[in-house]
Amino acid sequence: MKVCAFYTLGCKVNQYETEKIIKSFEQNDFKIVDFSEEADVYVINTCTVTTLSDRKSRQIIRRAIKQNPQAAVIVTGCYAEISPEEISLIDGVDLIVGNKDKDFIIEKVSEFLGLGDEIASPSARNDKEEKACSDGLRAFSGENKVKKAQRYHTRALIKIQDGCDQFCAFCKVPYVRNVLASRSIPKVLNEAELLASEGVKEIVLTGIHLGKYGIDLTDNTNLVSLLTSLIEIKGIERIRLSSIEAKEISDELISLISSSGRICRHLHIPLQSGSNEILKMMGRNYTKEEYLSIMRKIKNSISDFAITTDIIVGFPSEKKEHFEETLTIAEEAAFSKIHVFKFSPRKGTPAAGFSDQVGSKIKNERSERLLSLGERLRFEFINQFLGKELDILVEKRLDRSLFTGLSDNYIRVVFEGAGKLEGDIVKVKPLETRNNLLYGELVIEDG
Ligand code: SF4
Repeated sequence: MKVCAFYTLGCKVNQYETEKIIKSFEQNDFKIVDFSEEADVYVINTCTVTTLSDRKSRQIIRRAIKQNPQAAVIVTGCYAEISPEEISLIDGVDLIVGNKDKDFIIEKVSEFLGLGDEIASPSARNDKEEKACSDGLRAFSGENKVKKAQRYHTRALIKIQDGCDQFCAFCKVPYVRNVLASRSIPKVLNEAELLASEGVKEIVLTGIHLGKYGIDLTDNTNLVSLLTSLIEIKGIERIRLSSIEAKEISDELISLISSSGRICRHLHIPLQSGSNEILKMMGRNYTKEEYLSIMRKIKNSISDFAITTDIIVGFPSEKKEHFEETLTIAEEAAFSKIHVFKFSPRKGTPAAGFSDQVGSKIKNERSERLLSLGERLRFEFINQFLGKELDILVEKRLDRSLFTGLSDNYIRVVFEGAGKLEGDIVKVKPLETRNNLLYGELVIEDG
């Protein structure tokens, strides 16, 4: 039996796609081990969203080669799609597979290893695709190395859409995933039903540009119609959206979230900058006023709503005043989490050629300031829930009696419990905050 290990960098779509690849290896009798172990095959699903992602991707590739110089090292994902020549300079890489061929990695590996007929054909796999998707797609909080034993049956990703055609000035994604492709409602429902039958309570809808879901389909499907069907599925208690652009949040979507009781009161809405001048240079399609007005609409319609965001600091021409505007907007928006990115010029994107690039010292200072504002805002957000009961989907046991899980509005709580609680939704009352994390007690309900 051949042994294989996987590593995923980047977004939830990549995580989803790795799980699909893993399933195809499992179906062909590969043994999956932790990435830190010696394997015959290493598959690295890379990301290219920042220079740091490229660097990290190369580090992980080198790590695999070092762990077993005899292993077949396969590199796929967005970095492999856009910079195959850079990857081919790394001695020890055996195969580079672009995004379009990701579904065929098992065939390519089998050919490379000389396993020939022993591998299930692509057509046979296609028949099993829906099942394969649902089998392997358990999300496991923040840890991208695949550890079989840590796949908890609590939350699962479903990819509903691929591709982006917005071409923001800083972003490389449309160059590696530019074809808009939505999965049909019946396919998504089928996958969600299978997951529900296996006990999954929360699904996370992922895509490269979720708000464009349905635009390429001919039946007037959109995100709202998909969600309207999904909330009917018995057993799926929560539906989470992975990320959505501000201008794509319609009144219908807000009212569906408000009335459904099943769509999480949490949206990740990238802000990127709080300055209209910089937003325009970035090619974003909203102003700070429009962004804030959408946020207000959501928060006025739905209580305890969590909004998380991405912000880039040090975009070309970003002056002190522009950055101060970003701080002001972040404060007004009261984000519950800010992901801060220091601008890094990506070769081939317009922003890489913009004059007036910002120095790294200034980027570091701005990043620090924004991170500390983000910490404070997070603290203020989670502190509102002290003494209030939260429904927590239990993800894992931390030690003999400590468990952790997430509320629908993305608050992590640690609490004491007993027995097997993983996968259950329980009531927890947060009692204190430590290190920006809520600690609480399990609420035992009468009857
Ligand atoms: S919307 Fe902009 S930032 Fe998001 S994937 Fe598309 S081009 Fe990149």
